[in-house]
Amino acid sequence: METFDVIVLGLGGMGSSAAYHLAARGQRVLGLERHGPAHDRGTSHGGSRITRQSYFEDPAYVPLLLRAYELWEALGHDSGRDLMDLCGGLMLGAPDSLTVAGSRRSSEQWGLPHEILDAAEIRRRFPNLAPRPHEIGLFERKAGLVRPEETVRANLDLASAKGATLRFEEPALSWTSGPGGVSVRTAQGTYRAGELVICPGPWAPELLADLGVPFSVERQAQYWFQPAGGVEAYLPDRQPIFIWEGPPGTQVYGFPALDGPDGGVKVAFFRGGEVTTPETIDRSIRPGEIAAVAAHLADRVPGVAGRFLRGKTCMYTNSPDTHFVIGRHPGHAHVTVACGFSGHGFKFVPVVGEILADLALTGRTGHPIGLFDPLRPRDAAASS
Ligand SMILES: Cc1cc2nc3c(=O)[nH]c(=O)nc-3n(C[C@H](O)[C@H](O)[C@H](O)COP(=O)(O)OP(=O)(O)OC[C@H]3O[C@@H](n4cnc5c(N)ncnc54)[C@H](O)[C@@H]3O)c2cc1C
Repeated sequence: METFDVIVLGLGGMGSSAAYHLAARGQRVLGLERHGPAHDRGTSHGGSRITRQSYFEDPAYVPLLLRAYELWEALGHDSGRDLMDLCGGLMLGAPDSLTVAGSRRSSEQWGLPHEILDAAEIRRRFPNLAPRPHEIGLFERKAGLVRPEETVRANLDLASAKGATLRFEEPALSWTSGPGGVSVRTAQGTYRAGELVICPGPWAPELLADLGVPFSVERQAQYWFQPAGGVEAYLPDRQPIFIWEGPPGTQVYGFPALDGPDGGVKVAFFRGGEVTTPETIDRSIRPGEIAAVAAHLADRVPGVAGRFLRGKTCMYTNSPDTHFVIGRHPGHAHVTVACGFSGHGFKFVPVVGEILADLALTGRTGHPIGLFDPLRPRDAAASS
């Protein structure tokens, strides 16, 4: 039986980052992953993820984003990989929509550079976009995109280079913790360590059942289209990322054209998918859902949905309030958890790795993570 300082269970976005940060701090790390490196069966795939600082979800995320941006730079530099493209970002909708008003609140509270554009100005500066007269946009120059698969590979490469042992296609079958440390069992054997960090993505309901958080795993599809007039007008120097709030509860988002003339433009709906599990998800892309996203974009980004190229499913792992769940496991000594990223976690990958290393090694972190307390769903239920 082999022993380690820390076992990281799950090497997707968050776990690969935790493995890297822990190995960089001199820990003997074992990483265990159910699938292969940078796979497409979980949550961290699809070529692009939005990043932004004017965070409509809550201003409490902003200090983490400021640190994440520093760490994104360092990760790109240290890995030699192209991880980030700050092509700018537009948050669009009615002035009082969550997307616009929430982004404005975070920007103002934290003094983040931003511009408020009316519909005519948006049409002038970004001719692919056709907002309605009452809609406005918050433009953030430092928004853009990060590359999920490249990021996972960067973390895995650097973790290995710092001495981490990474085992793929080796799912953890069970884990236990006791006063002396933790053990994790796989089909190949049992591993012991002082600490365990669990980053399960959509397998959270299975691996963290006794956390007491009622996670809901949601199927989400990403769609790539060839714009009617070709990709030139959608290249990152002309087309920002956007999140566009329409009728109550609907947000559609999109990226510039990436990956050459045949790469297409990726668009998707934020939230509103059906409940699923990683084992039962329908990974096919249905004609009806392609038609629905194309129809939704027809008068907003009129040329974009020219020809459907391909689609890919993914999963959100939602917590009840859609805020992350990060902390020491309340029921088990020596166990740290990071889950419930609710469809908006990727831009935080480097800072979450730093936080998880802090928590595993010292039991605390200097980062403000009060919003992510694993006990809050129970506290909320008890007080209602
Ligand atoms: C369609 C879509 C669009 C998104 N867009 C954005 C965006 O624009 N911006 C943004 O910031 N975020 C976005 N997100 C969210 C973001 O991608 C996730 O929050 C993030 O990838 C979560 O990473 P994770 O490490 O928690 O999960 P994962 O990357 O899924 O990692 C979990 C890992 O655990 C492994 N695992 C599970 N069980 C076991 C086991 N028993 N043993 C060993 N390994 C195991 C899995 O195989 C997996 O590799 C999006 C998500 C989706 C699905």
